[in-house]
Amino acid sequence: MKEHHLKLNVLENSQAFLIEAVSKAIVAENDARNWQFAILNLVQSLELSLKSILAKKHPLFLYENIDNPKHTVSVTKAIERLENPMIGGVKFSEKEKKGMSSAIKLRNDITHHEFDFSVEYAKAQFLRVFGLIVHMFRHHFDIQITDYIDSNFIESLLEIEKSRVVLIEHANTRMQEEGVDSSLVWECSNCLCDSFVADKSKETCYVCGYQTSVEECGKCEDYFYSHDLRSIEHLFETDFCEGQTIVHNSFGYEPISICSDCYVAVQRDIDEQWQQRIEEDEYYHWSVE
Ligand SMILES: [Zn+2]
Ligand SMILES: [Zn+2]
Repeated sequence: MKEHHLKLNVLENSQAFLIEAVSKAIVAENDARNWQFAILNLVQSLELSLKSILAKKHPLFLYENIDNPKHTVSVTKAIERLENPMIGGVKFSEKEKKGMSSAIKLRNDITHHEFDFSVEYAKAQFLRVFGLIVHMFRHHFDIQITDYIDSNFIESLLEIEKSRVVLIEHANTRMQEEGVDSSLVWECSNCLCDSFVADKSKETCYVCGYQTSVEECGKCEDYFYSHDLRSIEHLFETDFCEGQTIVHNSFGYEPISICSDCYVAVQRDIDEQWQQRIEEDEYYHWSVE
Protein backbone atom coordinates (compact mmCIF):
# COMPACT_ATOMS: atom_id res chain seq x y z
CA MET A 1 0.00 0.00 0.00
CA LYS A 2 2.84 2.35 0.97
CA GLU A 3 4.73 1.63 -2.27
CA HIS A 4 1.67 2.44 -4.32
CA HIS A 5 1.28 5.72 -2.48
CA LEU A 6 4.92 6.69 -3.18
CA LYS A 7 4.71 5.90 -6.90
CA LEU A 8 1.62 7.99 -7.27
CA ASN A 9 3.19 10.94 -5.49
CA VAL A 10 6.21 11.21 -7.75
CA LEU A 11 4.12 10.72 -10.86
CA GLU A 12 1.48 13.25 -9.81
CA ASN A 13 4.20 15.70 -8.93
CA SER A 14 5.72 15.25 -12.34
CA GLN A 15 2.38 15.94 -14.00
CA ALA A 16 1.81 19.01 -11.84
CA PHE A 17 5.15 20.47 -12.97
CA LEU A 18 4.37 19.59 -16.58
CA ILE A 19 1.05 21.45 -16.44
CA GLU A 20 2.81 24.44 -14.87
CA ALA A 21 5.47 24.31 -17.61
CA VAL A 22 2.87 24.25 -20.37
CA SER A 23 0.89 27.12 -18.86
CA LYS A 24 4.10 29.21 -18.78
CA ALA A 25 5.06 28.21 -22.32
CA ILE A 26 1.81 29.17 -23.95
CA VAL A 27 1.93 32.71 -22.57
CA ALA A 28 5.71 33.08 -23.05
CA GLU A 29 5.54 33.88 -26.77
CA ASN A 30 8.66 35.83 -27.69
CA ASP A 31 9.88 36.65 -24.22
CA ALA A 32 12.96 34.64 -23.19
CA ARG A 33 12.33 35.57 -19.52
CA ASN A 34 9.00 33.72 -19.58
CA TRP A 35 10.52 30.76 -21.37
CA GLN A 36 13.02 30.52 -18.54
CA PHE A 37 10.25 29.47 -16.11
CA ALA A 38 8.65 27.16 -18.63
CA ILE A 39 11.98 25.31 -19.01
CA LEU A 40 12.62 25.16 -15.25
CA ASN A 41 9.23 23.53 -14.63
CA LEU A 42 9.61 21.24 -17.60
CA VAL A 43 12.99 19.86 -16.51
CA GLN A 44 11.63 19.39 -13.00
CA SER A 45 8.82 17.35 -14.55
CA LEU A 46 11.34 15.36 -16.61
CA GLU A 47 13.36 14.58 -13.50
CA LEU A 48 10.27 13.42 -11.60
CA SER A 49 8.95 11.36 -14.50
CA LEU A 50 12.28 9.52 -14.72
CA LYS A 51 12.15 8.94 -10.98
CA SER A 52 8.56 7.70 -11.16
CA ILE A 53 9.64 5.01 -13.63
CA LEU A 54 12.41 4.01 -11.24
CA ALA A 55 9.95 3.95 -8.33
CA LYS A 56 7.67 1.72 -10.38
CA LYS A 57 10.52 -0.80 -10.76
CA HIS A 58 11.21 -0.63 -7.02
CA PRO A 59 10.71 2.25 -4.54
CA LEU A 60 14.28 1.83 -3.22
CA PHE A 61 15.73 2.62 -6.68
CA LEU A 62 14.69 6.20 -6.03
CA TYR A 63 17.50 6.58 -3.55
CA GLU A 64 21.16 7.35 -4.14
CA ASN A 65 22.15 4.72 -1.57
CA ILE A 66 19.63 1.89 -1.41
CA ASP A 67 21.08 0.64 1.93
CA ASN A 68 20.56 4.04 3.45
CA PRO A 69 17.55 5.56 1.66
CA LYS A 70 17.86 9.23 2.58
CA HIS A 71 18.66 11.24 -0.52
CA THR A 72 16.93 10.62 -3.82
CA VAL A 73 19.06 10.07 -6.92
CA SER A 74 20.26 12.88 -9.16
CA VAL A 75 18.67 13.10 -12.59
CA THR A 76 21.87 11.86 -14.26
CA LYS A 77 22.01 8.88 -11.92
CA ALA A 78 18.31 8.19 -12.57
CA ILE A 79 18.97 7.98 -16.33
CA GLU A 80 21.95 5.70 -15.70
CA ARG A 81 19.85 3.36 -13.52
CA LEU A 82 16.98 3.29 -15.97
CA GLU A 83 19.39 2.28 -18.74
CA ASN A 84 21.00 -0.46 -16.64
CA PRO A 85 19.50 -3.74 -17.99
CA MET A 86 19.62 -5.24 -14.45
CA ILE A 87 17.54 -2.36 -13.03
CA GLY A 88 15.46 -0.34 -15.48
CA GLY A 89 16.12 -1.95 -18.85
CA VAL A 90 14.87 1.22 -20.56
CA LYS A 91 16.37 1.98 -23.96
CA PHE A 92 16.74 5.67 -24.75
CA SER A 93 17.71 6.62 -28.28
CA GLU A 94 20.82 8.79 -28.77
CA LYS A 95 18.53 11.65 -29.73
CA GLU A 96 16.49 11.28 -26.53
CA LYS A 97 19.62 11.19 -24.40
CA LYS A 98 21.03 14.24 -26.14
CA GLY A 99 17.71 16.04 -25.68
CA MET A 100 17.59 15.21 -21.96
CA SER A 101 21.19 16.20 -21.28
CA SER A 102 20.95 19.51 -23.12
CA ALA A 103 17.70 20.36 -21.31
CA ILE A 104 19.31 19.50 -17.96
CA LYS A 105 22.31 21.63 -18.87
CA LEU A 106 20.01 24.49 -19.80
CA ARG A 107 18.21 24.15 -16.46
CA ASN A 108 21.54 24.21 -14.60
CA ASP A 109 22.67 27.25 -16.54
CA ILE A 110 19.42 29.02 -15.68
CA THR A 111 19.65 28.15 -11.99
CA HIS A 112 23.38 28.51 -11.35
CA HIS A 113 24.90 30.87 -13.88
CA GLU A 114 24.12 33.75 -16.08
CA PHE A 115 22.41 32.46 -19.16
CA ASP A 116 21.81 33.62 -22.64
CA PHE A 117 19.45 31.69 -24.89
CA SER A 118 17.20 32.64 -27.73
CA VAL A 119 13.45 32.15 -27.83
CA GLU A 120 13.92 29.71 -30.75
CA TYR A 121 16.27 27.62 -28.66
CA ALA A 122 13.92 27.60 -25.67
CA LYS A 123 10.94 26.65 -27.84
CA ALA A 124 12.83 23.85 -29.55
CA GLN A 125 14.13 22.46 -26.25
CA PHE A 126 10.68 22.72 -24.75
CA LEU A 127 8.90 20.85 -27.54
CA ARG A 128 11.57 18.14 -27.66
CA VAL A 129 11.53 17.42 -23.92
CA PHE A 130 7.77 17.83 -23.66
CA GLY A 131 7.35 15.16 -26.35
CA LEU A 132 9.68 12.85 -24.47
CA ILE A 133 7.80 13.21 -21.17
CA VAL A 134 4.43 12.63 -22.84
CA HIS A 135 5.89 9.53 -24.47
CA MET A 136 7.18 8.23 -21.12
CA PHE A 137 3.81 8.69 -19.44
CA ARG A 138 2.09 6.81 -22.23
CA HIS A 139 4.69 4.06 -22.55
CA HIS A 140 5.38 3.35 -18.87
CA PHE A 141 2.09 4.28 -17.19
CA ASP A 142 -0.43 4.02 -20.02
CA ILE A 143 -1.57 7.60 -19.37
CA GLN A 144 -2.63 9.71 -22.34
CA ILE A 145 -1.82 13.42 -22.69
CA THR A 146 -5.54 14.30 -22.65
CA ASP A 147 -5.83 12.69 -19.19
CA TYR A 148 -3.72 15.37 -17.52
CA ILE A 149 -3.46 18.40 -19.86
CA ASP A 150 -6.35 20.66 -20.70
CA SER A 151 -7.34 20.50 -24.37
CA ASN A 152 -6.98 24.30 -24.76
CA PHE A 153 -3.40 23.99 -23.57
CA ILE A 154 -2.73 21.19 -26.05
CA GLU A 155 -4.14 23.31 -28.86
CA SER A 156 -1.92 26.28 -27.95
CA LEU A 157 1.11 23.98 -27.90
CA LEU A 158 0.20 22.67 -31.33
CA GLU A 159 0.13 26.27 -32.59
CA ILE A 160 3.72 26.75 -31.42
CA GLU A 161 4.68 23.49 -33.11
CA LYS A 162 2.82 24.47 -36.28
CA SER A 163 4.69 27.78 -36.58
CA ARG A 164 7.92 25.78 -36.48
CA VAL A 165 6.70 23.33 -39.08
CA VAL A 166 5.89 26.17 -41.48
CA LEU A 167 9.40 27.61 -41.08
CA ILE A 168 10.92 24.15 -41.60
CA GLU A 169 8.95 23.70 -44.82
CA HIS A 170 10.18 27.07 -46.11
CA ALA A 171 13.75 26.14 -45.23
CA ASN A 172 13.49 22.80 -47.05
CA THR A 173 12.16 24.47 -50.18
CA ARG A 174 14.98 27.02 -50.12
CA MET A 175 17.58 24.30 -49.69
CA GLN A 176 16.14 22.39 -52.64
CA GLU A 177 16.09 25.50 -54.81
CA GLU A 178 19.70 26.27 -53.96
CA GLY A 179 20.71 22.63 -54.48
CA VAL A 180 22.28 22.35 -51.00
CA ASP A 181 24.12 19.05 -50.55
CA SER A 182 22.41 17.08 -47.73
CA SER A 183 25.80 16.30 -46.13
CA LEU A 184 26.14 20.04 -45.49
CA VAL A 185 22.82 20.28 -43.61
CA TRP A 186 23.37 20.05 -39.86
CA GLU A 187 21.22 20.27 -36.75
CA CYS A 188 21.12 23.97 -35.86
CA SER A 189 22.49 24.60 -32.37
CA ASN A 190 20.01 27.43 -31.91
CA CYS A 191 16.61 26.07 -33.02
CA LEU A 192 17.57 22.33 -33.11
CA CYS A 193 16.06 21.88 -36.59
CA ASP A 194 18.02 20.11 -39.31
CA SER A 195 18.38 23.34 -41.21
CA PHE A 196 21.86 24.76 -40.67
CA VAL A 197 23.68 25.02 -43.99
CA ALA A 198 27.33 24.42 -43.13
CA ASP A 199 28.61 25.50 -46.54
CA LYS A 200 31.46 28.01 -45.93
CA SER A 201 29.68 30.64 -48.03
CA LYS A 202 26.43 30.26 -46.03
CA GLU A 203 27.03 29.17 -42.41
CA THR A 204 23.41 30.05 -41.69
CA CYS A 205 20.30 28.29 -40.38
CA TYR A 206 17.48 28.53 -42.89
CA VAL A 207 14.81 28.19 -40.17
CA CYS A 208 15.91 30.69 -37.50
CA GLY A 209 18.61 32.68 -39.31
CA TYR A 210 21.26 31.77 -36.73
CA GLN A 211 24.79 32.34 -38.04
CA THR A 212 27.96 30.81 -36.68
CA SER A 213 31.28 29.74 -38.13
CA VAL A 214 32.22 26.24 -39.16
CA GLU A 215 35.78 24.92 -38.91
CA GLU A 216 37.86 21.89 -39.68
CA CYS A 217 39.04 19.74 -36.77
CA GLY A 218 42.85 20.03 -36.72
CA LYS A 219 43.17 16.26 -36.34
CA CYS A 220 40.44 14.26 -38.14
CA GLU A 221 39.81 17.10 -40.63
CA ASP A 222 36.02 16.77 -40.43
CA TYR A 223 34.02 19.98 -40.15
CA PHE A 224 32.33 21.12 -36.91
CA TYR A 225 30.80 24.22 -35.39
CA SER A 226 33.76 26.37 -34.28
CA HIS A 227 32.19 26.65 -30.83
CA ASP A 228 32.36 22.84 -30.49
CA LEU A 229 36.11 22.69 -31.14
CA ARG A 230 38.58 22.80 -28.25
CA SER A 231 42.14 24.06 -28.14
CA ILE A 232 44.73 21.54 -26.88
CA GLU A 233 47.41 24.04 -25.83
CA HIS A 234 46.58 23.79 -22.14
CA LEU A 235 47.47 20.06 -22.27
CA PHE A 236 51.10 20.95 -23.05
CA GLU A 237 53.85 21.14 -20.43
CA THR A 238 54.35 24.86 -19.96
CA ASP A 239 55.82 27.48 -17.66
CA PHE A 240 54.66 31.02 -17.18
CA CYS A 241 57.65 33.36 -17.05
CA GLU A 242 57.75 37.16 -17.22
CA GLY A 243 54.32 37.43 -18.74
CA GLN A 244 55.01 34.76 -21.34
CA THR A 245 54.00 31.14 -21.63
CA ILE A 246 56.94 28.92 -22.48
CA VAL A 247 56.13 25.52 -23.94
CA HIS A 248 58.58 22.86 -22.72
CA ASN A 249 56.90 19.90 -24.29
CA SER A 250 54.02 19.81 -26.77
CA PHE A 251 54.15 15.98 -26.95
CA GLY A 252 54.43 16.05 -30.71
CA TYR A 253 51.33 18.20 -31.28
CA GLU A 254 50.79 21.56 -32.89
CA PRO A 255 48.65 24.06 -30.93
CA ILE A 256 45.48 23.14 -32.83
CA SER A 257 41.74 23.14 -32.10
CA ILE A 258 40.05 19.76 -32.39
CA CYS A 259 36.68 18.02 -32.10
CA SER A 260 35.56 16.40 -28.84
CA ASP A 261 36.28 12.82 -29.99
CA CYS A 262 39.79 13.74 -31.09
CA TYR A 263 40.25 15.70 -27.87
CA VAL A 264 39.62 12.58 -25.78
CA ALA A 265 42.18 10.64 -27.86
CA VAL A 266 44.84 13.38 -27.67
CA GLN A 267 44.32 13.83 -23.95
CA ARG A 268 44.77 10.09 -23.41
CA ASP A 269 47.91 10.04 -25.55
CA ILE A 270 49.46 12.98 -23.69
CA ASP A 271 48.60 11.37 -20.32
CA GLU A 272 50.32 8.19 -21.45
CA GLN A 273 53.39 10.11 -22.57
CA TRP A 274 53.55 11.83 -19.16
CA GLN A 275 53.18 8.48 -17.41
CA GLN A 276 55.86 6.90 -19.56
CA ARG A 277 58.27 9.71 -18.78
CA ILE A 278 57.66 9.37 -15.05
CA GLU A 279 58.40 5.64 -15.29
CA GLU A 280 61.56 6.30 -17.33
CA ASP A 281 62.72 8.90 -14.79
CA GLU A 282 62.17 6.43 -11.97
CA TYR A 283 64.06 3.74 -13.86
CA TYR A 284 66.96 6.16 -14.45
CA HIS A 285 66.92 7.15 -10.79
CA TRP A 286 67.20 3.53 -9.61
CA SER A 287 69.78 2.49 -12.20
CA VAL A 288 72.26 5.24 -11.30
CA GLU A 289 72.08 4.56 -7.57
ZN1 LIG B 1 18.14 27.40 -36.44
ZN1 LIG C 1 38.36 15.43 -34.95
